Amino acid sequence: MSLKVAVIPVTPLQQNCTVMWDEDTMTGVVIDPGGDVDALKDAVDGLGIKIEKILLTHGHFDHVGGAMDLADDTGAPIIGPHKDDEYITTAVTQRGPEFGITDGRDVSGNSWLEEGDTVSFGNQSLSVYHTPGHTPGHIVFVHEEEKIAQVGDVLFKGSIGRTDFERSNHADLISSITTKLWPLGDDVTFIPGHGPASTFGEERATNPFVGDAELG
Ligand SMILES: [Zn+2]
Ligand SMILES: [Zn+2]
Repeated sequence: MSLKVAVIPVTPLQQNCTVMWDEDTMTGVVIDPGGDVDALKDAVDGLGIKIEKILLTHGHFDHVGGAMDLADDTGAPIIGPHKDDEYITTAVTQRGPEFGITDGRDVSGNSWLEEGDTVSFGNQSLSVYHTPGHTPGHIVFVHEEEKIAQVGDVLFKGSIGRTDFERSNHADLISSITTKLWPLGDDVTFIPGHGPASTFGEERATNPFVGDAELG
């Protein structure tokens, strides 16, 4: 295997835009290009890779705001999230400015993903799991062989995604974490939408919201 991963925090919300690429073919994907597209393009150019696809975990503006500009620049298609997030992928220009994000664009022309789909680039592939709760159309991307996941705003090191938004659902979020993420294994390393990486095992042992001790 020759999967490589780089995390580039973008926007005032320091969202973890994640670049994954196949070292054999030097082709890759950008997950959640929320903004700061010029910096993202510089980073991708610096890595010397060709972006094949732009992937979205969920529809919040800090995760999708730069997708259209990056698609225009690279010619790569925008794929994801689940269709249930269409109400927010198309509301970036409406919601972003109150959080200091004024250069985001509404997403259009993207295709949607569902539980069980796979997304490939070079000789690598990512599995898609539908993980509603933070938003109804949230998905996560899992590289099964390398045991690396990009989980957006579902789970964080020491915390979980917010569920105080209009179409959030706390019970759904807990269920997504315990029935979709935990079965993937304690040794899976995950990159969250914000903040440092961790492993599912570490969170099961220590997370005050979804740790095994907390959930009994
Ligand atoms: Zn979010
Ligand atoms: Zn976020």
